[in-house]
Order: sequence, then structure tokens, then C-alpha cells
Amino acid sequence: MSNGKPEEETTQMDNCIFCKIIRREAPAKVVYEDSTTVAIEDIHPQAPVHLLVLPRKHLESLGAVSPEEDEVLIGHLHAVATQLARERGIEARGYRTVINNGAGAGQSVYHLHVHVLGGRVFHWPPG
Ligand code: AMP
Ligand code: ZN
Repeated sequence: MSNGKPEEETTQMDNCIFCKIIRREAPAKVVYEDSTTVAIEDIHPQAPVHLLVLPRKHLESLGAVSPEEDEVLIGHLHAVATQLARERGIEARGYRTVINNGAGAGQSVYHLHVHVLGGRVFHWPPG
């Protein structure tokens, strides 16, 4: 492979909508970015504020996270989520961060992402 990545990983990244957004090959409203992380507006918002915090690195879900390599990144995604919640003014009323892992939990895009939802009341347990 010319890019040094295994073929399977390259194919996943080529077909992944969030990788395409991160590479600016697909449209999205980007609300934050740094060297490891991009945050976008969810295209089908489930609350007045609904953001997605994405690692630039293609990881399918929490199950693909390497404790050695990715622990700092996973913490950083949540630090960014907190910062965005504060900036959007949803922190005081309470907001929800969600990672859906696997089809049974409602995951539909297999590129790890933290949902940040706020601006309305959330019930528990979630559906
Ligand atoms: P999940 O079901 O947890 O995998 O969440 C995937 C989320 O990505 C859903 O809330 C979708 O509305 C959102 N989504 C899918 N495609 C796009 C896109 N092109 N731009 C922004 N959000 C998207
Ligand atoms: Zn991806």
C-alpha cells in the first residue's frame, strides 16, 4: 500500500462518511477542530444543540480503542465535548454525552464519535 496502512483500514477510511468530512471531501458544519479532533453539527439534530466530536483517527467504536495508543485521545474527546457544551451555554441546565457502540445500541456510523446533546430535558433510562 502506498500510504503504509493495511488495505482493510484504507478501504474503511475511504468509505467512511466521517473520514470524508474530516478530509473535507464531504460537507458538514465544522464547529471545532484541532490536531486530533473535529466537531460537527449533527445532520439530524435530536436536541436544540446536537454536536458530534470525532477523532481524526478512524476507530470503529470504543471496542477498537487501544489502551496504549488511544487513552489520551479518548479523554481529549470528552474534554472537547465539555468545552463545546460550555460555549453553547448548555452546561448549566445539564447536557448529555453519548457514545453508541454497536447496532444494538443504535450505532449507525462506524467511526467513533461522542454525541453532545443539550438545550432540552433528557430522561433516564434512555430508550
Ligand atoms: P450513531 O447512530 O451513534 O452512529 O450516530 C451517528 C450520527 O451521525 C447520527 O446522529 C446522524 O444523524 C449523524 N450523521 C450521519 N451522517 C452525517 C453527516 N453527513 N453529517 C453530520 N451528521 C451525520
Ligand atoms: Zn472514519
